[in-house]
Amino acid sequence: MLDLIIRGGDVVTPQGVVRCDVGIAGETIAAVAAPGALSESSAKRMIDAIGHVVMPGGIDPHVHLHHVWIMPDGTPLITAGPEQVGRAALHGGTTTFIDFAYWREGASARQAIETRDKDFVGKSPCDWAYHIMLHSEPPPEFSGQLAEAIQAGYPTLKIFTTNILPSRSGRMIDFGDIWEAFQVLAKAGGLGVIHAEDNDIVMHMYAKLIREGRVGFEHLAEAHNQLSEDLSFRRVLRLAESVPGTALYMMHISAATGVAAVAEARRKGLPVYGETLHQYTIYSAEDYKRPNGQIYHTYPSLKSEQDRQALWDGMLAGSIHTIATDELCCTLKDKTAGNRIDNTTGGNSGVEPRLAVMYTEMVVRRGYSLARYVDLVSSNAAKIMGLYPRKGAIAAGSDADITIMDPTRRGKVRAADLHETDYTPWEGHDIFAWPVMTILRGKIMVDNGEYLASPNDGRYLKRKIPAEILNGAAL
Ligand SMILES: [Zn+2]
Repeated sequence: MLDLIIRGGDVVTPQGVVRCDVGIAGETIAAVAAPGALSESSAKRMIDAIGHVVMPGGIDPHVHLHHVWIMPDGTPLITAGPEQVGRAALHGGTTTFIDFAYWREGASARQAIETRDKDFVGKSPCDWAYHIMLHSEPPPEFSGQLAEAIQAGYPTLKIFTTNILPSRSGRMIDFGDIWEAFQVLAKAGGLGVIHAEDNDIVMHMYAKLIREGRVGFEHLAEAHNQLSEDLSFRRVLRLAESVPGTALYMMHISAATGVAAVAEARRKGLPVYGETLHQYTIYSAEDYKRPNGQIYHTYPSLKSEQDRQALWDGMLAGSIHTIATDELCCTLKDKTAGNRIDNTTGGNSGVEPRLAVMYTEMVVRRGYSLARYVDLVSSNAAKIMGLYPRKGAIAAGSDADITIMDPTRRGKVRAADLHETDYTPWEGHDIFAWPVMTILRGKIMVDNGEYLASPNDGRYLKRKIPAEILNGAAL
């Protein structure tokens, strides 16, 4: 007995785009069948998807929800949590996101996860997972605990090579500890997820820009620059190469130098994967000069027009595999409270329009196939992060996470139409598609703009990184 049949859509399956029907029983996909092959009388509800694109729910592998940010006046800002951001994500066709659990000094990896669960359990309408985020001064027992966490279904470790801002400490991990972590990851089947910037170059540039009085945020690309990305990516990748079996996911690539470093590592056969952010693909450092230019920023920084083009080239050449948001959802007032190179709020508000904006940019403007688009916004993240084929696939046995996209929809992104916050960096951006239905594990979460989800609907996703991702440059 089927609960739902999605009839007649252009379904993006792992084998390609097929006009067919999708049958859902309970939380999973029961059948992908020729049009009309699933008996209408067998289903509780029939959804007509003729003329629509039926794709796996979007996966955002890099978000920061209910995240503490210190404002310029020293007060903590707690960003929007999973209930608010999850609602926006579902409206935009994204069903799963991966956030971070902060493994701080004095606590165990297990405690880090349990602490973070308090922000999510019963509060997230989307399915979710965490990367464990290591902070400086890892405890002596961190190797053993990391191996246990990987076995327990928490197989990704976030590592920073910089403190990002001069006023911050406690993020950067020194290379000895990273080396140690890579040895554990390689042995236990984990994946390093890396924020790589060269701390010496970044801090040198902060000192120099401050000395010269060039402290406005429009100079952020000079502090978080291409050379920093070049040096840090290559140093991290060289370290990984020295520990056979180390698999890495390079987060928010922003510069041509980062793309080139990942491409070179992959040419050597190393298991290295690249992420960029949707605003890095469309905006450049020139956009900092626009009114409220901080809204386009997240760390590292927007770069030049040539860098932006290199990100697109990297997508085609296979050195960039995912488009994430680095979501950090706050109000316009909070996002623009800082206006200096050393106090501008990071993160992006963009989880809701990500699928539609990227559909427009990839499929409509650049002629990408639907399959490649879906890889970049959903399937590749599932594969790399150990969620595939449960997530990121429309196939029998997969979770019934499905977004039905109307490709005849024309419009512009307006913050007032979104469910995220009071601004969007995509204001006025063309959209040539928008989801008309979002389904999570068989439940219709959004039906033509009507929100039907509950904060109890989301579930934590334990993960295991597959051997083909760990063993060499897959994808
Ligand atoms: Zn981030």
